[in-house]
Amino acid sequence: MRFAAASIFALLLAVPASAQRWQLQSNFWVSLHQTMLDAAQNGKALEAPMTPDERSAWNNAVHEYRIRFYERSLIFDDELVKINDGLSSAGELPPEGFAEVVTKALLSAAPVYRKHRWATDDRTNQFWISIAEGMLRDTGEELVREHARIYGAQFPSRVTVDVTPAAGLLGAYTTLNSNGLVHVTISSRDQRYQGYAALEMLLHEASHAVVGATTGAIGSEIQNVARNNGMLAPRELWHAILFYTSGELARRVLRERGITDYVPYIYRQSMFDRGYLAFKQPLETFWQSYLDGRMDRGSAITAIVKATGTLPPARVRGL
Ligand SMILES: [Zn+2]
Repeated sequence: MRFAAASIFALLLAVPASAQRWQLQSNFWVSLHQTMLDAAQNGKALEAPMTPDERSAWNNAVHEYRIRFYERSLIFDDELVKINDGLSSAGELPPEGFAEVVTKALLSAAPVYRKHRWATDDRTNQFWISIAEGMLRDTGEELVREHARIYGAQFPSRVTVDVTPAAGLLGAYTTLNSNGLVHVTISSRDQRYQGYAALEMLLHEASHAVVGATTGAIGSEIQNVARNNGMLAPRELWHAILFYTSGELARRVLRERGITDYVPYIYRQSMFDRGYLAFKQPLETFWQSYLDGRMDRGSAITAIVKATGTLPPARVRGL
């Protein structure tokens, strides 16, 4: 026993820090659940040569999901978060404690999914994981340190990443449960998160545990500056800063490793042309100055909020 314990200790010491922080997995039940949600919420059909019985089992299960979950949020709905978390650590069978209709739908869709899709989906997930883990092994801890420094906040010490065929309309999302589990779900089939973009998006997603809309790092600072200046901050500003930061930090570590043409997500997906236009110049000027060490964070956020915030509508008097 003593020998075994010592071996495990030695093994732990030998595992690089990034491997302990990031737990990437391809999980059958999460993949099935996300595929069913994609069918139920987004009408994505399961492409497979199913028999009539299999097709009806699959369609019935998806129908149950549609009735229950059609308009519910993968991020904010407690039941969907609990199911995704529970399945993530499930063994052979889905865990107990889900609503009966959910467990029944999962169990009746499982044989169809296992027969027709799982091998392909698992291979796709595993391929994505092998690329992402390679990058994290080399750059992960450096990126974590830089994100923590830039946000002035501790980065999560453990991040569970379920790599799945689908993960909602945006293809990636992050939830935090009451046990402190930071749970990222990201699609291995989404073309926006392939190759080097996987690295940026893993850091972006995990940063959601640190950066909030109105709380946590950045979000609370934006709110304070807005309040002190009698302004309203744009709703998406905190998220634009998150995108910009992970994009720039990923670009830097890649550049130091010979990749000189990496284009961060915020540019590659034309986000400044799709709702973020007002943020472009303030971020490229003030936030970039902060990232370059030419400005402190408080001054940068103050300048950005002043450039993008609005005055609250004047009260109509006398009515
Ligand atoms: Zn995000």
